[in-house]
Amino acid sequence: MSVLGSFAFRTSHAAGSARLGWFTTPHGVVETPAFMPVGTHASVRGLAMHEIKDAGAQMVLANAYHLYLRPGDQMVRALGGLHAFARWQGPMLTDSGGYQVFSLSRYRTVTEAGVEFRSKLDGSRHQYTPEKVMQIERNIGADIIMQLDELIEGGSDHAASRAAMERSLRWLARCRTEFDRLSRDGRAPLDAFPVPDDAPPLASHDRDADLPAPPQALFPIVQGGTYADLRRASIDGIMQTGDWVGIAVGGLSVGEAKSAMYDTFDTCAPRLPWDRPRYLMGVGFPDDLLEAVARGMDLFDCVAPTRMGRHGTVFTADGKIQVQKSSHRTDRRPLTDTCPCPACTHYDRAYLRHLMVTEEPLGPRLLALHNLTFLLELMREARAQLTAGTFHAWQQAWLERYRQRVRGA
Ligand SMILES: [Zn+2]
Repeated sequence: MSVLGSFAFRTSHAAGSARLGWFTTPHGVVETPAFMPVGTHASVRGLAMHEIKDAGAQMVLANAYHLYLRPGDQMVRALGGLHAFARWQGPMLTDSGGYQVFSLSRYRTVTEAGVEFRSKLDGSRHQYTPEKVMQIERNIGADIIMQLDELIEGGSDHAASRAAMERSLRWLARCRTEFDRLSRDGRAPLDAFPVPDDAPPLASHDRDADLPAPPQALFPIVQGGTYADLRRASIDGIMQTGDWVGIAVGGLSVGEAKSAMYDTFDTCAPRLPWDRPRYLMGVGFPDDLLEAVARGMDLFDCVAPTRMGRHGTVFTADGKIQVQKSSHRTDRRPLTDTCPCPACTHYDRAYLRHLMVTEEPLGPRLLALHNLTFLLELMREARAQLTAGTFHAWQQAWLERYRQRVRGA
């Protein structure tokens, strides 16, 4: 068990590298392994926070880049911080937005100082430095904030991967210095705009508790592509830079072979401290989640499941299916027999197909909620199997069924 300030992590019921954990944050405890829905603009597209909660989500992500551009990190802070703004009472995490700066900006220039880019919205010029990113994420106010790291394309060669990994370590040291300064100095109270008595309920039952700057934890990110020596060097560098509440593994699921991704989990996990949560960034397909849990990863996020759902691709225990396919025209079965989501418990495939074909907004919403619920249920079941001591047999049977293509599905 580790305790660092307002954060703690303890594990039990290990099965090989897999473990059951409890991650305590200022806004509650997250039972791990856990999938975290991605609310890019402080909203999981098309879904209300109470629907996310009902689906079983414990912790929600937002993106610092998008919130920095709209409505602005200062505005989020003035409106009471991310939890009050988005009306989510549980733990939250912001990604630095490095990925968006590198992938969405109209153009960008990377130097040792940071990244200069033009907004995708209006072409305005912005500078992202490690220090600035810490200030932005501090203003937004999530429980967990991520470092700025240098991202490169999947499949980059060893030299380019090494250079980006080493720069990310230098940026981590600068993030840490600024994060410590901000934590030490505190910040002005949140909530510059007074809340009238008849306003909708705030995220916190105790509004006064949210007024002082809430404690935050900074997570470093292990980089190094699929090169084992670089991953090891990245972890060594991170551990030399300080003590951490938790550690993330990034730069995966960017086009590499699945076997290379799984090998990278195997490289990283044994070198990461056992008593800290490990957050695997951007990986969220059911089979990858179970492979990662088995290799010792605890927290996951990915925007793909909800995006795929909105476009008609849904997860089932027998693999993915395309709801729009004409074979579902008269299919009276639910998407799955066991998922507790509204799409599976209220509707059949024929109707869901109809919604998608006629482009009714309810269709994408229901299917996104299904995929989210499916992953949250999968992680809940993984925790139950770890508790029962049956994780490995269950995981192997689950993967075998999922990967077996069912004829006619
Ligand atoms: Zn469902």
